[in-house]
Amino acid sequence: MSDSNCIFCKIIAGEIPSHKLYENEHVFAFLDISPLSLGHFLVIPKIHTEKFHELDNQSASEIILTLKKLALALGIQDYNILQNNGKIANQAVFHVHFHLIPKLSNKGLGINWNPISLKEDEFEEIKEKILSNL
Ligand code: AMP
Ligand code: ZN
Repeated sequence: MSDSNCIFCKIIAGEIPSHKLYENEHVFAFLDISPLSLGHFLVIPKIHTEKFHELDNQSASEIILTLKKLALALGIQDYNILQNNGKIANQAVFHVHFHLIPKLSNKGLGINWNPISLKEDEFEEIKEKILSNL
């Protein structure tokens, strides 16, 4: 349920202070300590889980609903939702978290989008791999 070495589990337990925005039975939301823009917050499941695909369905659903609730409360129109999994994908805290990062003129998430080019058989191969595992 919780991991005694995890900083986010400690925040949920109240052992480390946070700027709490919302909590219910399944999720906890708080301001990011090192924000990319004003209002940058995180939503996390209460059950310690490292990666998105490992989440139970109820936590996953509640996280999405909470992001929406807080986006409405923040009253913003331009923002990014970011969720990193694994060290090479920039995950620094190994307890699932969704960032909501307001985009305010020059503040917010910087995106470096470098598309790769794929041949038709490569599109087909990856599509078949996914479909065969569904
Ligand atoms: P990520 O790179 O997606 O794992 O991001 C981890 C995020 O957690 C960073 O944006 C940190 O600023 C944030 N963070 C780390 N420790 C705390 C803390 N004690 N309170 C609030 N946010 C934190
Ligand atoms: Zn944790």
